[in-house]
Amino acid sequence: MKKHNFYAGPAILPQTVMQQASEAAKEFGGSGLSILEISHRSKEFAAVMEEIISSTKELLGLPEGYEALFLTGGASSQFYMTAMNLLPSDGNACYVDTGAWSTKALKEARAFGGVSVLASSKDKNYSYVPKDYTVPSDATYLHLTSNNTIFGTQLKEFPKTKAPIVCDMSSDIFSRPLDIKKFGVIYAGAQKNLGPAGVTLVIVRKDLLNKVDRVIPTMLDYNTHIKKESTFNTPPAFPIYVSMLTMRWLKENGGVAAMEKKNQEKAGILYNEIDSNPLFEGAAAKEDRSLMNVTFLLKEDKLQDKFLEACAAAGCVGIKGHRSVGGFRASIYNAMPKSSVQVLVDVMNDFGKKHG
Ligand SMILES: *Cc1c(COP(=O)(O)O)cnc(C)c1O
Repeated sequence: MKKHNFYAGPAILPQTVMQQASEAAKEFGGSGLSILEISHRSKEFAAVMEEIISSTKELLGLPEGYEALFLTGGASSQFYMTAMNLLPSDGNACYVDTGAWSTKALKEARAFGGVSVLASSKDKNYSYVPKDYTVPSDATYLHLTSNNTIFGTQLKEFPKTKAPIVCDMSSDIFSRPLDIKKFGVIYAGAQKNLGPAGVTLVIVRKDLLNKVDRVIPTMLDYNTHIKKESTFNTPPAFPIYVSMLTMRWLKENGGVAAMEKKNQEKAGILYNEIDSNPLFEGAAAKEDRSLMNVTFLLKEDKLQDKFLEACAAAGCVGIKGHRSVGGFRASIYNAMPKSSVQVLVDVMNDFGKKHG
């Protein structure tokens, strides 16, 4: 049976990307070798590295002064690398706490300097995005999480601030156009909206570096990876290759502006079903609803297992919500076709007729 992949991460990738990736696992680029066994110093892999860097710059519209890095350690390592590289011990890193990932990020930053939590939506189990706060004039940076994968909320607008924004975009990178000049650092684990687990994209505005006087271990210093174009040590070659293929797919499909339109449409039909079906309700505040992770609840808990069974019977996989929200979560990243969202909507609709 065809599966419809709603997992939050690792998550769905475009079918064509998966086919091309499995081809390259057999034979890659006319080299007579698999992508899995070729040197990262070979000319074939050097071309992959070059393409992924230039595609990132093109897709995001990176201005002069920004670099795109491909690192290991997941988005979780960026929680401390951002602070280690940018935050002087007497600095003031400002955080907006919009969920579990933000909480983890600000905890790590505390090891390196001053941290202020400007606002938090913890009071309502992170079901909304706080907007009513001011960024102090001495802020070193403002840290935001653009999309809260677990709670299903998303920043629709980034605040106007003098301080550079450091942003965890793990679950919505490449899902919409951005005004890059607002950002000092953007980081994203690949496994939500870009590629397989194992590589993390980091965008760095170079003039923010070299303002701390602590000793930074070589591998944790952004300068190292800028200087060596992400090949100071052996990079995660296969995840990088697959992410590069996804970027080709993105470009062939109209880039981030076209993705945004498609994502709005997909989320629109799902939220519409949630709002019109009397059995269900959305988990997040309407104005903050994520286009990537759609969280929703059954008003009657006892139907929970039955609904999951109905999803499974239709081939919908990965619908169970995160334990901290309960209910359900449908992750509908870039690669998710509208037809799969429609399958889920039909399941909900049928379920409503049967149990309503
Ligand atoms: C998944 C996720 C992370 C953690 O990513 P890892 O690569 O597993 O470290 C961090 N932030 C957000 C917003 C996420 O969705």
